[in-house]
Order: sequence, then structure tokens, then C-alpha cells
Amino acid sequence: MNRQRQDDHDIILAVRDLVVEHDGGDGRTVHAVSGISFDIRRGETLGLVGESGCGKTSAARAVMQLPRPTRGSVHLEGMNLAALPRKDLRPLRAKFQMIFQDPIASLNPRRRVRDIVGGPLAVQGELGTEEKNRRIAEVLSDVGLNAEQTMERLPHEFSGGQCQRISLARAIILEPKLLICDEPVSALDVSVQAQILNLLEEMKARHALTMLFISHDLAVVKHISDRVAVMYLGKLCELAPAEELYRHPGHPYTAALLAAVPAPDPKRPLGRIDMVAGELPSPTDPPSGCRFRTRCPHAQPLCAEQEPKAGEVSPGHTIACHFPLSG
Ligand code: SF4
Repeated sequence: MNRQRQDDHDIILAVRDLVVEHDGGDGRTVHAVSGISFDIRRGETLGLVGESGCGKTSAARAVMQLPRPTRGSVHLEGMNLAALPRKDLRPLRAKFQMIFQDPIASLNPRRRVRDIVGGPLAVQGELGTEEKNRRIAEVLSDVGLNAEQTMERLPHEFSGGQCQRISLARAIILEPKLLICDEPVSALDVSVQAQILNLLEEMKARHALTMLFISHDLAVVKHISDRVAVMYLGKLCELAPAEELYRHPGHPYTAALLAAVPAPDPKRPLGRIDMVAGELPSPTDPPSGCRFRTRCPHAQPLCAEQEPKAGEVSPGHTIACHFPLSG
């Protein structure tokens, strides 16, 4: 068995040196995730933030083993998912579930809500129809839907926010330990976003969930996360408690992301990253040394020669930069 004792028993997920590479179709390798490591403690929400294309969704999918990472380990409660044979992984899937960005597309349009939400119960073997329906109704009402009016309908009969509630019901019906949320509100109207975020927090408390919450929206991440990790072109550049990161960003990329958040405008969602100056380099040919150096206003010759290693600047606050910002 791939059991590994963790020093800290509070750690539910330990990701080490995770690498995700795939063929870009032109014979070149896409370096989507290049050796990231992080822990998530039981009951906490870790936010993972970065621009589109930084590798955060690839990292989340690798944690889910969908598909498996190219290299690295993903220990969930001490069990290395990345090294388990497929047949041993399947029953463990009840412990870690994911909800996706596009709630409508993530639901099978031809299946009724009853079958969608009850689908994961199949891993628990044959349950009687009555017991199955009872659990489906219970979880639907838990996420704020009227079970009687919902069960027999098809996904297209619901709004985006309702579909995200159905996705959440499907994700929590097996009482997972870890819930991975990949941009769960970015496809929703601003007015619905807050409802779904509040629902996630309620579910987290009620079902003792631990969450990995992925978003490119800094305000959303700050609102929901205990700690925040910032990702750039396949690497983690900063990780800190949420308040600390937003008040004292130490990595020039984090500072640039925060500076790129537009001033409040009632017509647009708060906190979206507009643009950090310069183009995101291609993940098929990332820059040498520090990957942010082609856009970093503080870059020096050393930054092209040596990759900066993550170092702790204060308890729980790590930065991967040769010349971190101070103050
Ligand atoms: S290592 Fe150099 S290029 Fe990279 S973020 Fe720090 S100062 Fe900028």
C-alpha cells in the first residue's frame, strides 16, 4: 500500500512536485504544471489563483487523477492517489469530488436530476430505491432545491445557478472529504455568484468539507479562502494566509495581479484580473530561470540564470523570488 505518514495529522491533502505535461499536437511538450507542492489542512479552504492558462485547472485535474499527473505525488489522508492502481482508485473517488466552471455543460442533458445526483451512489453498491430517493431528496434540499419539483426534470429546465446547486448536490452526496471547485461561479451572473459562494461556505461547515478553490477572480478567492496560492505559468510563486497575501504581496506577480484589479464599477464583477502587463509566455517554451522574468519590472540577470526556490518570509508565507518585495 502507498501509505505515507504525514508529520502533521491535520493535513488532508499533500501535493508534492506535481508535474503535468502533454503533447501540444505539434510535437512539442506543453509544460502545464512544473513541480508544484502544497498542503491543505483539514477544514480549510485553499484558494488557487492566477491568469487563464497558468495551469491551475491542470493542477486540480491532476489532484483528481483526471488524468493522472505526469510525475509527483498526491497524498489524500496519507494515501498516494497517483500511485494507486485504477481499480483501487475508483472506490476512493467518494472522498474527493469536483465541481466545474460551466454547471450546465457539466450535467448530462439527457439524464434527469434524480439520476444525475444519485449517480455517484452506484459506488456504494445496490441501494434500495427508497433509500436512494431519500438520500437524493435530502441532498437536493440541502443545496436549497425543492426535491419534489426538481427530481424528474432535465438540466436545461434550470438556470445556471440552479445547475450549480445540482452539481454541488451530486458532489456531496457521498460526503467527500475534499471538494475541488474549479471556477465555480465565473460562468454565473454576478447576482447569483454570492448565493453560490454562501452556499459553498454553508456546505463546507455542515459537511466538514475541505476545499481547493480555483479562480482568476481575486475578490472571490479572498472572500472564501483561508490561505491563497498564486500560480504563474505552471509554478507556484507565493502562498500565504489570505489577509497577509492581500496586504503584503511579496512576489512581483502577486503585486501585479492585485494592481490589475480594476476600480469598483457597478456594471462589472469585482476583482477580475484585467491584465498584467506583457504576454503570458507559451507553456511549450517557458523562460529560463524565473518564469515571470519576461514581465517582471524587478528582473535582474540572476533571474534568467537561476530558478528561484520558495522561501519562508514569515510564518506560513512563502515566496519564490530572488528579490521579494518588502513592506
Ligand atoms: S525572481 Fe526576478 S524576475 Fe522573478 S519575480 Fe523575482 S525579481 Fe522578478
